[in-house]
Amino acid sequence: MTVGPSARTTAAAPPWQAGGAPPPPSTATTAQHTPALAASAPESAAAATTYRGRFAPSPTGPLHAGSLVAALASWLDARAWNGGRGGLWLVRIEDVDTPRCIAGADETILRQLATCGLVPDAPPLWQSSRGALYQQALDGLIARGDAYPCACSRKDIEEAHAAQGHARERHATLPYPGTCRQGLHGRPARSWRFNTTGFCQKPPVALAHAAQGAPFSIANGTVRWTDRRLGPQEQDVTSVVGDFVLRRADGLWAYQLAVVVDDAAQQITHVVRGEDLADNTPRQILLQRALGVATPRYLHTPLVRGANGEKLSKQNGAAPLDLREPLQALNDAARALGLPAWDHPHHNSLPSALEMWVNAWARTYNGPP
Ligand code: GLU
Repeated sequence: MTVGPSARTTAAAPPWQAGGAPPPPSTATTAQHTPALAASAPESAAAATTYRGRFAPSPTGPLHAGSLVAALASWLDARAWNGGRGGLWLVRIEDVDTPRCIAGADETILRQLATCGLVPDAPPLWQSSRGALYQQALDGLIARGDAYPCACSRKDIEEAHAAQGHARERHATLPYPGTCRQGLHGRPARSWRFNTTGFCQKPPVALAHAAQGAPFSIANGTVRWTDRRLGPQEQDVTSVVGDFVLRRADGLWAYQLAVVVDDAAQQITHVVRGEDLADNTPRQILLQRALGVATPRYLHTPLVRGANGEKLSKQNGAAPLDLREPLQALNDAARALGLPAWDHPHHNSLPSALEMWVNAWARTYNGPP
């Protein structure tokens, strides 16, 4: 396992940053955040900190045993950083998918975190207030030919696949067949897509694999990256996902664009989140390259499964955390992370149990590369 900040080279300012000059088509390796971008982040006073982590829950319900694992892991990683001297831990409420959000769930989540002793180092940020920033990012992508309007409905995509003789596997998301990449041909635009195929053919992107020390590489549409827990990963984004949505047909911002813009704006250096999101990482790395912003290090945590073997999630009815005994809930989360159980006689208070897990985390996840 490896840790540490991403390798960085300089690049022009992202276009969606106030006063930023348009960057070149893309840069071969990771880019450095600029002072103006730092100043746009609400917690810019702490910008000198070299570790900036975040927990980014969607307020679709209260935290459950599975989401506490990701919350605890990201908090522990921030606290354990630099031999226990610690970095900055932020919370971002990802409320862009408004139909799935539940009123008050954001406040419930923040209260649940606080009950567990997980308190962010700066005021939380709500994605619903950041549409202008996402629009600026999209405008920059459009200007450079990295995004295009799409007229296709889900049915159109299925029909295009059927016409090519592709069978659809159950529950599988079909890669976008590229129907609108060359233009709408008079059809009305519904959504905006990232031009994965076009972007991966741009010479600086094709060369990205040559960058020394880069925590990822891109070659022929395949993104390779090393997860701090899962090890080397790869995905051919052009064939597995295709040109993915940035702004949805209902006008809402897609998770991929919002998460990349905000991780960059908040200068996140380390992302720690659930393993179910690991296969989104290559898309996010491509978007980071297209926007000319840094790629954080990633660690994806084990998923907690219910009695039926399925991943615990709000969608399949996971029970909200019972926080009458926060130490017990944290103990279950720590066990899921492979950390030792809370040792009752020695660590019978929340702060002392958390401190014990910070030390255990450093031994388990922050070993030498
Ligand atoms: N908001 C996402 C979720 O709750 C997590 C996004 C992330 O950590 O990148 O599943």
